[in-house]
Amino acid sequence: MVSPKEIVVRALEEGRNKLLEHEAYEFLGAFGVPVPRFGLATSEDEAVRVAQRVGYPVVLKVVSPDIVHKSDVGGVKVNVASDEEVRKWFNNIMSNVSAKAPGARVVGILVQEMVPQDLEVIVGSTRDPVFGPVIMFGLGGVFVEVLKDVSLRIAPLAEYDAEEMLGEIKAARILQGYRGAPPRDRKALVDIILKVSRIMESVEEITDIDLNPVMSFPEGKGAKVADARILVRRV
Ligand code: ADP
Ligand code: MG
Repeated sequence: MVSPKEIVVRALEEGRNKLLEHEAYEFLGAFGVPVPRFGLATSEDEAVRVAQRVGYPVVLKVVSPDIVHKSDVGGVKVNVASDEEVRKWFNNIMSNVSAKAPGARVVGILVQEMVPQDLEVIVGSTRDPVFGPVIMFGLGGVFVEVLKDVSLRIAPLAEYDAEEMLGEIKAARILQGYRGAPPRDRKALVDIILKVSRIMESVEEITDIDLNPVMSFPEGKGAKVADARILVRRV
């Protein structure tokens, strides 16, 4: 197990300013942020072993520093349910990628736990040159993209601040339970917000964290990051 600092240093040494998806999960996991179980596979056999360890169904995704939108090149397959399917889709993704993104470096195939669909929220941070890390929270999809309904705080955050952020968005009632949908696990969201604040304070190389979406489950059921983008720079 490499330390979070080593993950960042290695990316920078390889001339990257973005962590690969599995690096981002490894990094977040080291800080206790809930991420899907995963493993990186470089062969069909290894992919099957990882899938058995992670538990079916799984998602297969190409990992490449040269591919930004994986789905566009046939690089993502969700809901893969058996050893046979893992073998089939491992090869399918590899041939899609060599046909649609010739020359792209492929680090491997990420085999990942399926995260059940639920209420999507986003937690993010940008390091402002004047204010330092600014932490953002909002609901996913149209709420952030169209309505810009987010709350912002300058790090470091106390638990109280994170709680306030949840209550401050215009759509706050959706988190409380709405038309038969149960109330969300607020504690789990507060915990992720606080951890993002702590990461930004303690790892100066990180310029941006974008956890989008974070799947927010009903009370008592937690939350889980379903996609993560982490940008780094030399300091
Ligand atoms: P990209 O945006 O590069 O095409 P993503 O990693 O976002 O690739 O995957 C594409 C889509 O597949 C996601 O938007 C999501 O709907 C689904 N997906 C990806 N990973 C998971 C997962 N672990 N569990 C459930 N669905 C997933
Ligand atoms: Mg995506």
